[in-house]
Amino acid sequence: MRIPLIAGNWKMYKTNDEAAHTVRELDKLVKGLAGVHIAVCPPFTALAGVGRLLTELDSKIWLGAQNVYPEPEGAFTGEISPIMLSAAGVYYVIIGHSERREILKETDELIAEKLRAVLENNMVPILCIGETLEEREAGRAQGKVQDQLKKDLSLIDPEQIAGMVFAYEPIWAIGTGRTATPDDAQEMNSFIRQQLASVGGAEVADQARILYGGSVKPQNIKDIMKMEDVDGALVGGASLNAEEFSSIARYKE
Ligand code: PEP
Repeated sequence: MRIPLIAGNWKMYKTNDEAAHTVRELDKLVKGLAGVHIAVCPPFTALAGVGRLLTELDSKIWLGAQNVYPEPEGAFTGEISPIMLSAAGVYYVIIGHSERREILKETDELIAEKLRAVLENNMVPILCIGETLEEREAGRAQGKVQDQLKKDLSLIDPEQIAGMVFAYEPIWAIGTGRTATPDDAQEMNSFIRQQLASVGGAEVADQARILYGGSVKPQNIKDIMKMEDVDGALVGGASLNAEEFSSIARYKE
């Protein structure tokens, strides 16, 4: 039984005060909501503060980070280790977001290291994969995702896939207002599950949660969540506003 996850990626938005304000509001709006996990992934500067606030509020909201560096400590200026994240109360870690792959030039090799490091530190990676518009139009969407999975999962024990979260995020749908159709999301998520089964076996693949991400809004979440292989959503823009994000999390109502 896969518990759906609605995770908010705040990207490079919100000062500490703004983050605290949003979390207080969101916590009120989702109090008592059962059957779904909700996570927020603030920028690094707000992580520890939001972590403390969630504890103070006795909140059911999970804390996530947007990135990590795969070493425990050392001379890596500007980077944050898995140990530091875990100590700040982080449970989920987004890895391989397309903005990091495209803008920060992150390679699959580095992403594979990050995955291993996050799992070793008992946190849950949210591995983002997805194709560009050009790749989709050239009929290479599945090939791209298959290639990313093969490389990104190369350093972990296949059984660990069961506890992971994957996020199919077509790059052409991120922050563009253009959403993949529920059928597009189902087709790719089911393909991803098949790929996971070929690496770790059917039972492992059946336990992994596979999200959809790309311009998810209160208006389209219901239809997306009806799909058999969609186990939740990774939400960017619409997660910045507590009311909007809470109505996404309340998609069953
Ligand atoms: C994202 O950043 O992962 C994302 C899906 O963004 P948006 O919801 O704004 O498209």
